[in-house]
Amino acid sequence: MEPVASLFAPRSIPFSVEMFPPKGSLTLDAARKVVGGMALARPDFISVTCSAGGSGNGGQTIEVASLIQSEAHIPAVAHLTCVNSTRETVQAAIAELKAAGITTVLALRGDLVGNAQPGDFRHGADLIPLLKDAGFCVGAAAYPEGHLDCLDLDEDLRHLREKQDAGADFFVTQLFFDNDDFYRFRERALAAGVTRPVTCGVMPFLGKSQIQRMVFLCGSSLPSPIVKLLAKHEDDPAALRAAGVEYACRQLVDLARNQVDGVHVYSMNHPDIAQAAATALADAGFRA
Ligand code: FAD
Repeated sequence: MEPVASLFAPRSIPFSVEMFPPKGSLTLDAARKVVGGMALARPDFISVTCSAGGSGNGGQTIEVASLIQSEAHIPAVAHLTCVNSTRETVQAAIAELKAAGITTVLALRGDLVGNAQPGDFRHGADLIPLLKDAGFCVGAAAYPEGHLDCLDLDEDLRHLREKQDAGADFFVTQLFFDNDDFYRFRERALAAGVTRPVTCGVMPFLGKSQIQRMVFLCGSSLPSPIVKLLAKHEDDPAALRAAGVEYACRQLVDLARNQVDGVHVYSMNHPDIAQAAATALADAGFRA
């Protein structure tokens, strides 16, 4: 690269992807193949979700996180939820994470759905001191449009700040479809004293029912360009999926141009999505 060009080259942006561990018909071998496919996108880390609470804590999440590190040689971030959990089950999960060589954990409450109970921990923040004491780098969730349970954005931001005060090292956001929602949130979070890096969660819509479920679960709003795409490709699932991936890629590049701290793709065990995202960022000059 010419010296002048290198002076003005866009900086490389931290890029990560997310997957879920074996469940239902997904075997550990299938998860291993997903990891192999994700690795081709060369993410800076792969995070592994965790079912909410109790016996679901740890288990396959830790196994998959461990194989990401030992076989794909990519740092893994293991999610850990605390609903339905006792102090003992959480301490056991922490010991398992340590034994597996995991160094970074995303501390989460988990959704209070069905029969879920808060257990010994009421909020995601309550997990953070335990994890910090055990020597982990700790991430926590942030909600650019506010968490579904909280109607007051300022209050939600105060709780975000509490996570930072409890020791959170970084944040990963809930998915959002309109980047302006994130840019507004970034300003408000900074004003609330949130200074830790915030990586932006982006999820491509792959189908109508998936997007309806996600919007219902997370409370993220659907901007009109997406509604129009859903209407346009209503009867063509392949075209809708392609439009969803393209929309997400455009979102990622715009976020990179606006110098966010990082981008995190909810790739939902689809390596092609991770690879499309990595290619879009590389084509725009944000990945080598
Ligand atoms: P909290 O921080 O506890 O927040 C929940 C609600 O409580 C918010 O409305 C908040 O404003 C409020 N609150 C926080 N502190 C207080 C307080 N002191 N007093 C009163 N109210 C308070 N779920 C899974 O089950 N498995 C996963 O792997 C998973 N991964 C996720 C990854 C990311 C990046 C994100 C954004 C979410 C993920 N979730 C996952 C979903 C998450 O568990 C839910 O969004 C859950 O409802 C909230 O988790 P939290 O840790 O943000 O909770």
